[in-house]
Amino acid sequence: QAQLARIKHRIVVMSGKGGVGKSTIAVNLAYGLALAGKKVGLLDADIHGPSVAKMTGTEGARVSGTPEGMIQPVRLHDNFHALSIAYLIDSEDSALIWRGPMKMSALKEMIENTAWGDLDYLIVDCPPGTGDEPLSICQIIGDLDGAVVVTTPQHLAEVDVRKSISFCRSLNVPVLGVVENMSGFVCPRCGEVTQVLGSGAGRRIAEDMGVPFLGSIPMDPDIAEASDTGRPFIHAYAKSKTAQIMQEVIRPIVGLAEAQTKT
Ligand code: ADP
Repeated sequence: QAQLARIKHRIVVMSGKGGVGKSTIAVNLAYGLALAGKKVGLLDADIHGPSVAKMTGTEGARVSGTPEGMIQPVRLHDNFHALSIAYLIDSEDSALIWRGPMKMSALKEMIENTAWGDLDYLIVDCPPGTGDEPLSICQIIGDLDGAVVVTTPQHLAEVDVRKSISFCRSLNVPVLGVVENMSGFVCPRCGEVTQVLGSGAGRRIAEDMGVPFLGSIPMDPDIAEASDTGRPFIHAYAKSKTAQIMQEVIRPIVGLAEAQTKT
């Protein structure tokens, strides 16, 4: 608790299911804050599908211990550190087959026993869904400024977003907003927009459930390429149209988080 008390703002990035771009948003949000000079910690709490090491080009990095026996997160920049289960296990290729209690104690250890120091922001890449793990994570971290819910635009995703929003409500976690990712593909040759996954689910549900809609990020092969090569997209492709759209989507999150009154 003494460690957690040194963190000013805590934001979780959630999604109803995997593969919708939750880690992409978490990494780029954290990176954007660090670029703006904030002290940032990025916690990859997705035990079964950790992506932060790959997306930040730190595969193979290992955490060290502090003299007090705490976990020293991996340094990405002076003001930006990350922690992922990938930095603690032998091989990222081996599937973790830990049972619930083992996962919970690993998560608890990663949340409570990490020497983040004084942070302006802790960004948490939550496991997908609304099960035990995200529940415990939100409860252990406590005093969250809010959650960002990431979704894709098709009808089928609606039910997941509704569940994520009601999950937050039942835990009294403010929903900072919904991001619709993979929203349309702009043909690089002719500029025509194809709604590959349909459109509008994110906005529709946000309006329906009375939470902010943060915007839509299109499908862009450069996002996948940047992730695969460990370069945060908003920095690596800073001048591209999609990076500017992503900046506009994540910018209000900071204001919304800072506006939350802490109890
Ligand atoms: P999740 O955390 O929800 O499982 P990820 O952020 O890991 O999803 O994204 C899944 C894959 O999709 C990654 O390879 C990522 O680079 C890619 N991706 C995410 N968003 C986009 C996008 N808007 N355009 C293209 N590829 C994307």
